[in-house]
Amino acid sequence: MISEIAPITHSTPIGAIFDKSYSCGIFDGDMILQKVLEFFSTHTPDAVIVTQKSLAVGILTQKDMLRALYSLDNTGLPIREFMSSPLQLFDTSTTIIDILDEIEDNGFNKIVVHEDNKIIGIIDKRDLHSICYAQLNPLVKHEYNMVHSLMGLVGEGERGLLKMATTDALTGIGNRRLFEEIFQAHQSLGDRYDVTLFLLLFDIDNFKSINDTFGHNVGDSVLKELASLVGKSIRKSDIFIRWGGEEFAILLRYSEPMTVMKIAEQIRKKIDKNSFETIVHVTCSFGLTSIAPHDTLEDVFIRADKALYRAKEDGKNVVRMELT
Ligand code: GH3
Ligand code: MG
Ligand code: MG
Repeated sequence: MISEIAPITHSTPIGAIFDKSYSCGIFDGDMILQKVLEFFSTHTPDAVIVTQKSLAVGILTQKDMLRALYSLDNTGLPIREFMSSPLQLFDTSTTIIDILDEIEDNGFNKIVVHEDNKIIGIIDKRDLHSICYAQLNPLVKHEYNMVHSLMGLVGEGERGLLKMATTDALTGIGNRRLFEEIFQAHQSLGDRYDVTLFLLLFDIDNFKSINDTFGHNVGDSVLKELASLVGKSIRKSDIFIRWGGEEFAILLRYSEPMTVMKIAEQIRKKIDKNSFETIVHVTCSFGLTSIAPHDTLEDVFIRADKALYRAKEDGKNVVRMELT
């Protein structure tokens, strides 16, 4: 049913887990419950997809079925009255990690996959996790151990201290120490796992003149507002920190450099368009680089810095990339 040919990792596009012969139950919303009941009794699916004019609009799970059959009077009614909706639709090209990130945020349990409006399949969050389990487990375990060793440094009962040690006091986002710890944890996994990391380094343009003209307090408020603005524009799984002064860094996990380039560009535009409380207009320059499995933190920062330097040279308020 579900393809097992290629190794599936969290950067695999979701379409790859359904092979050509996979078929799931798809029923028009006007279909009566009785008809679908026959399908459930012969195929025992987890859920079927409900459509309206061929577009997926909901799903009917075993639970929905049980609820519907609570009264036998319902068997002549259209299934759309019992379906769960809205439903979470993803294109076949979306990576598994992006899907997991998104459903983690909104609490959906089952997702439907489509391509050019054709329904390809349905999958459960738990199944998706277990497909990637072999890949994710060592990573999660590693980060867990890392956090524990950090906890050891500050003492079991003092979690607040751990947070303090890894948080930037002014902006409330992570600091350089948090970044270094997470970077080391990822790098120590080597190239055994299919995780591509990127570092996006950015620096506020002409910040010295902001301070000189409006004062240090205004400078501080710009740093805080910027951190909160950018923090809202990235995924929870991305590590966002203040590297120091008016420089920030984001550690991003994606499969394609061009996707990260697009994200960097979105962040740049968002800052450029934002009306800051104090001095209204602020811009930043960005340096982007990919991270190879054997890179040290220094290697990575040299490249990102080089890209950032080019962004400043090219007139500021732009993104530049320096690949490995
Ligand atoms: P560029 O566009 O080339 O980046 O120029 P710039 O003026 O932003 O860069 P420069 O490195 O000359 O100045 C950075 C300034 O940032 C100088 C420093 O006083 C200020 N700064 C560093 N940390 C803080 C802080 O925590 N609060 C405030 N208000 N200013 C800070
Ligand atoms: Mg600077
Ligand atoms: Mg600057």
